[in-house]
Amino acid sequence: MSAPTEVRRPAPVLTDDNVGYWEALRDRELRIQGCADCGRLRHPPRPMCPHCGSLNKSMVLMSGRGTVYSYSILHHPQAPAFDYPVLAALIDLDEGVRVVSNLVGVDKDDIRIGMPVHVEFADARDGWVVPVFRPVSA
Ligand code: ZN
Repeated sequence: MSAPTEVRRPAPVLTDDNVGYWEALRDRELRIQGCADCGRLRHPPRPMCPHCGSLNKSMVLMSGRGTVYSYSILHHPQAPAFDYPVLAALIDLDEGVRVVSNLVGVDKDDIRIGMPVHVEFADARDGWVVPVFRPVSA
């Protein structure tokens, strides 16, 4: 019998629009795409600013702080790279952008809408990193 093999989360699917987001995460930085002309943030990354139509963009470093906007507890279908139940959450970053992520370090019965969280970084396959969020202890 062989020792269990660690199964890491799948690597992200890269596009011309999201590669900056994922490359920043490899450096353990949460950066959100911003418009280089009007300064507004947008997520997920995309080629054009929905506010002013600019094609100029930058990747803005976030504080990593936010709150739980909503969440879902996923039991199925199960994939070996994840621990179940998966705590999927919409996180409102303090900078005003909402991201989809996972909650860690919290029991499913203790999750609350509006609870403060901060980002952590989880390893994925091939050296990639995904952001996850942990409740901030009072
Ligand atoms: Zn803009």
